[in-house]
Amino acid sequence: MEKRKLVIIGSGPAAYTAALYAARANLAPLVYEGFYSGTPGGQLMTTTEVENYPGFPEGIKGPELMEKFRRQAERFGTEMITEDVQSVDLSKRPFLVKGNPTTVEAEALIIATGANARRLDIPGTRDGEFWQKGVTACAICDGAMPIFRNRDLYVIGGGDSAVEEAIFLTKFGSKVYIVHRRDHLRASKILAERAMHHPKIEIIWNHVPVRVEGDTVVKAIVLQDVNSKKEMRRDAAGVFFAIGHDPNTKFLGGQVELESNGYIKVAAGSTRTNVEGVFAAGDVQDHIYRQAISAAGSGCMAALDAERWLSSKGLIE
Ligand SMILES: Cc1cc2nc3c(=O)[nH]c(=O)nc-3n(C[C@H](O)[C@H](O)[C@H](O)COP(=O)(O)OP(=O)(O)OC[C@H]3O[C@@H](n4cnc5c(N)ncnc54)[C@H](O)[C@@H]3O)c2cc1C
Repeated sequence: MEKRKLVIIGSGPAAYTAALYAARANLAPLVYEGFYSGTPGGQLMTTTEVENYPGFPEGIKGPELMEKFRRQAERFGTEMITEDVQSVDLSKRPFLVKGNPTTVEAEALIIATGANARRLDIPGTRDGEFWQKGVTACAICDGAMPIFRNRDLYVIGGGDSAVEEAIFLTKFGSKVYIVHRRDHLRASKILAERAMHHPKIEIIWNHVPVRVEGDTVVKAIVLQDVNSKKEMRRDAAGVFFAIGHDPNTKFLGGQVELESNGYIKVAAGSTRTNVEGVFAAGDVQDHIYRQAISAAGSGCMAALDAERWLSSKGLIE
């Protein structure tokens, strides 16, 4: 079986940046980019303009940015396989990485499989409808877009993220409504109080969105009272899902320690997991920042951590 010094699993900014650094350090990394597990290239493949990635003062389309990441990693000798990793065996070294059909051994492993933002599957929000035309799952990424300026915006959720996103959106929208299915927020007390006293935020309790309507972009949201089932239609320019993320860790089969919220646990200030020789980068280990630049930064850290670890074990010169 083929043995690699370093295998990287994933294909967003974290994986490609790790690959770039590892390739330039002559580690000849192999990247499993994924196939069915998410779009190869990661979450930015599903977005249009990326305006907050430094180096592109005019902005850049998400897929174009990721193509550049990929090409730069390839230029220095990264090998890519467009396959999902189905499982890994981390019980002994070298580790076993099972794709479909390719299986390899790896001295060191970087996990950069990202996370998927949850969205409700309701009419108007799906791909090809108003997804990315007013419906989004990232206020920090998309909130400053002109279509949201001085308009009514709706955040769906009731936890810390929902409140933080709503507060952030008050910079842009005329009014921000938090739609929550219960009669109290799950967010921490301090955040919940900030939301409840904010002059531009209103909370719509005991309601769920059932439909998003529009023409070329979002124009309205239909909310349903969870008790009476009565519906109301409200003008809206933006619908922001803030109902959590699912880090992609199933294929690890419980062999790497996770935080209670499902994200991979790494040692503070590093990308080291609890398994020696296994490193994690990007959104799969970051429930706080979740941005392309922070994912890329931690991809760089993971490659340097992996290289130093391989060197300390005498596995590379
Ligand atoms: C709609 C949208 C818009 C966004 N806009 C911005 C923005 O403007 N600016 C910004 O900074 N951030 C933005 N973000 C956030 C940004 O996309 C993420 O923070 C970033 O992509 C995380 O990068 P990552 O490398 O951790 O992984 P991801 O981008 O999540 O990519 C991981 C990839 O790994 C692959 N994978 C998963 N499981 C496996 C497996 N078992 N085997 C092999 N491969 C696997 C999949 O292909 C997956 O797509 C946006 C996110 C969304 C959803």
